[in-house]
Amino acid sequence: MFSSLRDKSVLVTGSSSGIGLGIARQFAIQGARVVITARNADKIETVAADMRADGLQVQGLATDVAESTCVSSLMRTLEKLHGGLDVLCCNAGIFPSSALESLTEADWDRVLATNAKGTFLCVQAALPLLRRAEYGRVILTSSITGPVTGSPGWVHYGASKAAQLGFMRTAAIELAKDGITVNAVLPGNIITEGFLDMDAEYQAGVAASIPAKRLGTRRFSR
Ligand code: NAP
Repeated sequence: MFSSLRDKSVLVTGSSSGIGLGIARQFAIQGARVVITARNADKIETVAADMRADGLQVQGLATDVAESTCVSSLMRTLEKLHGGLDVLCCNAGIFPSSALESLTEADWDRVLATNAKGTFLCVQAALPLLRRAEYGRVILTSSITGPVTGSPGWVHYGASKAAQLGFMRTAAIELAKDGITVNAVLPGNIITEGFLDMDAEYQAGVAASIPAKRLGTRRFSR
């Protein structure tokens, strides 16, 4: 277990907004050196610059986690920047809604490629770096949707989030001998940029289905 995150090397995918940005900021506030990634290069650099302006050790690198060449290049650049990697947070994910009846093969492939294959590609490419770390840590952002519950419009998303947990269980066993742990968090509904892209009726319906009648939010603490 880490006694301190000071100067640990942390990579958070899908971190130009939402939950990933929250994870990255929290690690950086604890003193870690953090690389944030997303596809949109301008946005990731702007977000990284904002965090550096707050005195945090953050670099932005554009990547598509669904593309193996991008992921390999990301790991090479990260190794040059940090010399290694202690914590990998596989958080990048997309959730375009579609009823099963009208779901296209292309949408199925896109969601599985980002959420499930992206997890595999990032963990596999990070292995040489994580093995060199004293305590390599992998944390996947799964979801309650798929592993725990279902929701109309998300057969592809639910399948991808359940796939992450299947990946996690076997990867954790395979990597235990290297001192690397693999875990997942399963968030409920959190107000993020991605969540706010969905229609207001859906957002209200989700909030109404929660006993406390309110959605999760990001909070930062020093
Ligand atoms: P968000 O606000 O839409 O942020 C998603 C982030 O991922 C963005 O930085 C996006 O930037 C990046 N991204 C998307 N596709 C990518 C790709 N192929 N390669 C690299 N980066 C990519 O989403 P969020 O709500 O924070 O969700 C983050 C994670 O939490 C997802 O895995 C999601 O499934 C999970 N989750 C969310 C909720 C919720 O209620 N919000 C609940 C449960 C689980 P670019 O578009 O520039 O690439």
